[in-house]
Amino acid sequence: MTVTYSIVVPVYNEMDNLEELYRRVREVMSAARGTWELVIVDDGSTDGSTERIRALARQDQQVRPVIFARNFGHQIAITAGWDYTRGEAVIIMDADLQDPPEVIPELIAKWKEGYEVVYAVRVGREGESWFKKATASLFYRLIYRITDVKIPLDTGDFRLLDRKVVEVLKTMRERHRFPRGMAAWVGFRQVGVEYARAVRFSGVTKYPFKKMFRLAINAITGFSYFPLQLATYVGFTAAALSILAIPVVIVMRLTGHSAFLGQATTLIAVLFLGGVQLISLGVLGEYIGRIYDESKGRPLYIVREAPDKS
Ligand code: UDP
Ligand code: MG
Repeated sequence: MTVTYSIVVPVYNEMDNLEELYRRVREVMSAARGTWELVIVDDGSTDGSTERIRALARQDQQVRPVIFARNFGHQIAITAGWDYTRGEAVIIMDADLQDPPEVIPELIAKWKEGYEVVYAVRVGREGESWFKKATASLFYRLIYRITDVKIPLDTGDFRLLDRKVVEVLKTMRERHRFPRGMAAWVGFRQVGVEYARAVRFSGVTKYPFKKMFRLAINAITGFSYFPLQLATYVGFTAAALSILAIPVVIVMRLTGHSAFLGQATTLIAVLFLGGVQLISLGVLGEYIGRIYDESKGRPLYIVREAPDKS
């Protein structure tokens, strides 16, 4: 079957958002010319979302549920969405309606102009805590500075991808993933569309600080060696400083100064460098752990129920 538009929505305990999501997506998509499907990836929900997704699928064939065997995380759910979509254009959005379906026609318009990646840029964020906004803003800027790919600022996963791009992304099976970085990495013609991020329709965020932190680490390690190189920089600086210190200390001793006598100076220097070394080890460990995960070659996700891929 040929499908023009696929909408991918990862869902983790979003029971009270699903009806409204479906209603608004249907409204928007029935105005668009072309066939469409709504691929809902149930990322191991435990609140009854699964039943609601099945009910939607019974009621409308355009809803295609992919139900995971457990919670695998937002990024993996998006990946499963890519695997199961058939559309010429694939749109990824959140289930909580923070990414308004009404923006989809704007994304489609840019796609029709010939852009292959149309990402949605957040110009306003309503109803989110200052902490979330501040950490998110810091996160986007940090990633922009230290990674090798230029991931657009203030851009989440809400975007439209052309089939060509999705086919490339499907071949990238890395385990610790950062989909918006991957979408930036592949190239093609890309453009941003601005939108105001809405308030969550119902429920609470599924991204506590811990998960945001993991995502940040995935983004950095997935696209940059910078943390590994940091140890080298600190090492060179420390070595240079100590070489400079040697003649200073000799001269001070010869001229009768009694500086650097106490143990405290030594202790602080040793502890400082010990700390730096342990941190560097930790950074190494982070990268090695990722190599280990990749080497196991396990499947990215396990589905309990899923439609045919064609
Ligand atoms: N989500 C998911 N698996 C998870 C966590 C979140 O599929 O382990 C989904 C969630 O249901 C939502 C989207 O990812 O559709 C974004 O999550 P959320 O709205 O909680 O994040 P926030 O907007 O607060 O950053
Ligand atoms: Mg949200």
